[in-house]
Amino acid sequence: MQNCLVTGGAGFIGSHLCKTLLSDGYKVICLDNLITGSKKNIESLLSNPNFEFLEANVCEPIINSSFLTLNYMFHLASPASPIDYQNLPEETLLVNSQGTLNVLNLAKNIKARVLIASTSEIYGDPLEHPQKEDYWGNANSFGLRSCYDESKRFAEAATYVFLKKYGIDARIIRIFNTYGPNMQKDDGRVVSNFINWALKGETIKIDGDGSQTRSFCYVTDLVDGIKKAMFVEGTKGEIFNLGNPEEYKIKELAEKIIELTNSKSKLVLSDTFRPDDPMQRCPDITKARDFLNWEPKVKLEEGLQKTIDYYKNV
Ligand code: NAD
Ligand code: UDP
Repeated sequence: MQNCLVTGGAGFIGSHLCKTLLSDGYKVICLDNLITGSKKNIESLLSNPNFEFLEANVCEPIINSSFLTLNYMFHLASPASPIDYQNLPEETLLVNSQGTLNVLNLAKNIKARVLIASTSEIYGDPLEHPQKEDYWGNANSFGLRSCYDESKRFAEAATYVFLKKYGIDARIIRIFNTYGPNMQKDDGRVVSNFINWALKGETIKIDGDGSQTRSFCYVTDLVDGIKKAMFVEGTKGEIFNLGNPEEYKIKELAEKIIELTNSKSKLVLSDTFRPDDPMQRCPDITKARDFLNWEPKVKLEEGLQKTIDYYKNV
């Protein structure tokens, strides 16, 4: 049996990844300090003998005898919601810098294959659209979003150094907006906010005029892409955009959620956008399609309906 480590495994994406790795027949160690995640997300996995939960900070030295037999390391630990990382700016800087160095060093020492989770945020407010992996981005190094954007850029640079200097078996994924069950209800992300306001019939507050765009990937599609980026042969040293290339205006997303929840909520626009809010974001996934034979399958309406059903019951 092969062994996997998932840092950030009690978070939104990490919990889905742990679950599917277990059903694929892997042993899974989930390392998480629960700073933005929740034990509830992994509750159903705790009784599985192939699952181990370690409550720990990946920024601390990683010393654990069970790590010596790891084959695969998925590094997902990091706050991801803008509200979370702006409330936890130092923790965000640290987990993506020191935490990533710890993971890369461990991968080097035990010769494990490693996947580093980066983000579409490294493209900043992009001047090229849609974004391809070879676009360098337009990110602000000195602002509210910089703790996240720049530390993820550092994580990518660190991965490059470890690839070139030590020849480790590493790859990077750049995740675009992902949604689904297990997102914290109060994490402040657009999908969770809008659904929860709509379900309560409360006002849906849009930051700006709602013309900014995002593309939304359902979590099971994303996890499928993460596994392919790790397990498909020949991915060492590669970077993949993983996201859904269907692009929506934020106002359109709000209207869709109101319709699907049959809500009486009203939309309210505001005069100002959030500071440094990217005005458009959409992945070019040609590389993932060609190389990994991966593309998202779940339509927005279907994924939103599943997410709405989840939030009705939590
Ligand atoms: P999340 O906040 O739900 O999960 C992150 C997990 O990491 C949490 O369980 C948290 O407790 C844990 N964590 C944070 N710092 C830690 C530390 N120092 N030590 C151990 N655990 C720590 O976020 P998510 O949406 O599941 O994001 C997972 C990864 O995907 C992140 O690296 C994020 O940057 C990346 N990502 C997510 C999205 C998205 O749309 N969800 C988009 C781009 C990138
Ligand atoms: N947004 C909004 N109202 C909200 C939450 C988000 O209008 O309650 C907007 C936000 O300004 C941004 C987009 O929705 O333009 C996506 O925001 P989110 O926080 O989900 O993540 P981001 O893609 O910015 O990292």
